[in-house]
Amino acid sequence: MSDRSLETVADDEAPQFGELSPPNRTLMGPGPSEVHPRVLRGMSTPLVGHLDPSFVEIMNEVQELLRYTFRTDNQWTIPVSGTGSASMEAAIGNLVEPGDTMLVPTNGYFGGRMASMAERAGGEVVEVDAPWGEPLDPADVEAAFDEHQPDVFGFVHAETSTGVLQPHVPELTDIAHAHDAYVIADCVTSLGGVEMRVDEWDVDVAYSGPQKCLSCPPGASPLTLNDRAMDKVLDREEQPRSWYLDLSLLEGYWGDERAYHHTAPITNVYAIREALRLVAEEGIESRWERHLDVAGDLKAGLQDMGLEMNAPDEYWLPSLNAVRVPDAVDDAAVIDYLLEEYDLEIASGLGDLAGDIWRIGCMGYSARPQNVEFLLATMEDALAEQGFDGA
Ligand SMILES: *Cc1c(COP(=O)(O)O)cnc(C)c1O
Repeated sequence: MSDRSLETVADDEAPQFGELSPPNRTLMGPGPSEVHPRVLRGMSTPLVGHLDPSFVEIMNEVQELLRYTFRTDNQWTIPVSGTGSASMEAAIGNLVEPGDTMLVPTNGYFGGRMASMAERAGGEVVEVDAPWGEPLDPADVEAAFDEHQPDVFGFVHAETSTGVLQPHVPELTDIAHAHDAYVIADCVTSLGGVEMRVDEWDVDVAYSGPQKCLSCPPGASPLTLNDRAMDKVLDREEQPRSWYLDLSLLEGYWGDERAYHHTAPITNVYAIREALRLVAEEGIESRWERHLDVAGDLKAGLQDMGLEMNAPDEYWLPSLNAVRVPDAVDDAAVIDYLLEEYDLEIASGLGDLAGDIWRIGCMGYSARPQNVEFLLATMEDALAEQGFDGA
């Protein structure tokens, strides 16, 4: 035995920090939303191996719960390792082949991200326009199809940058399918909070993230593909550019084989299992209803204060409320005041709506009456500080 002491003594250079103690925030921004205590408890559960028979069981349960939440029977339904952008890139990077044309929307930040990903996949990008703060008009989508004959059409069901819900989803998927194209829906800020029916609405590929309406920390992100889309992916002539997100390889792990591809983020899989169990306990339709009710109270309260919503009711997005900043009110000062005085997080506008709106999330575990009451009371105070009296 060596006589080196096992006692460890920090050397002079080792950084020494205090124990982790982040502030206790109320999260009413564009995500992450507050995490349900049961999900946090699930995350402190000891690990098993990622090929352990007990973990294979957990994987099956997560897949079944995801199918329930997406309203789909798609066999190809998995949590992708990574944040929402990983499931987004898995969808676009596998479905879009070099030379394919992808039609993307210009009415928000995430349509722009779709375009970047499609380009990196070797696709050609064409656009269908609508102003930031408005949804796509099916007639414009039809016209874009007639003009460009795209192979893939992507749209954002719940545009977090603008607080716009894309209505007419079945109309959009009909247009795409009449042109033999595939549809990819960004459901990051709708899944588990706003009505989305993958099978009934004929969406070929849908992806989401855990930290919005599912109230789960980022790390494992929902993705579903129907057989038609998966056939295209498995028939590719050229491999997708990402090894990590190659669905033909991931099939080996999530499909029948259960072979190693990469180590699943075990703790995040535990987390999403618990988050999805909460969805199933509540019932998906009741959950959509709760978001409508709680965010409806938020909207009514803000309007009573003299504030205006950016989106009309037809395409108001309950999970992300875009509120007009009144003239002579400093949007950033209100955001800072709420954070400093009340530990409450909301966000500013982005892109074309920067300075014009606040973005107030009402997602998952954050979509509770007590959060709404707290937000309304503190917002009233913040506006009074700014000398605003709209009522
Ligand atoms: C948050 C979000 C994403 C990206 O998810 P990350 O978890 O930040 O990678 C994609 N699309 C929409 C609509 C989002 O709100």
